[in-house]
Amino acid sequence: MREHVMKILIVGDGNVGKSSFVDRYVLGQFSGRYKMTMGVDFSLKILHWSEREKVRLQLWDIAGQERFVSMTRIYYRGAVGCVMIFDLSDSRSFLNCRLWKQDLDLKSVLPNGQPLPCILLANKSDLSARVVATDTIEEFSKANGFIAWMETSVKKNTNIEEAMRRLVQEILSL
Ligand code: GDP
Repeated sequence: MREHVMKILIVGDGNVGKSSFVDRYVLGQFSGRYKMTMGVDFSLKILHWSEREKVRLQLWDIAGQERFVSMTRIYYRGAVGCVMIFDLSDSRSFLNCRLWKQDLDLKSVLPNGQPLPCILLANKSDLSARVVATDTIEEFSKANGFIAWMETSVKKNTNIEEAMRRLVQEILSL
């Protein structure tokens, strides 16, 4: 049995659903309350990837950011992938993804010098109050080197597993 250990960063503005995403993915539940976490949390999840491979995921959730704040290098150290989340009903959280991505690429590269594989998640797809257009996300995702983007709803449990599988698959293929 081969075991991979992966440190994955969960980044994005406050209130986009980062903690809920981790809770949903790791604990399989949606808490539906606003949790203001202080500092950095990490959660563990073991994925039985194949008969011969196990993946131990360490999900690092930066916490309680009301707006973009440049992160410390310690937070980025040793990471091999990133989940960037914004809220489809909040255009600022989308615009700030540019800053999050710049900060990420500046401070965190893989040992071979390549940028960290990063998946972009357009969360809260269950809401009707969408303000960010699909074409805009598609263009942004391509122009900024994301491996993919997906619409998710942590509330409805849509695309959460799929997004993580896509990211892990990319990391394993490098
Ligand atoms: P964080 O600050 O990025 O960690 O965001 P939270 O996980 O604390 O979520 C912020 C708020 O958005 C909470 O009230 C969540 O219940 C809510 N939320 C998270 N994901 C979704 C979603 O997919 N749909 C809806 N409607 N609400 C969500």
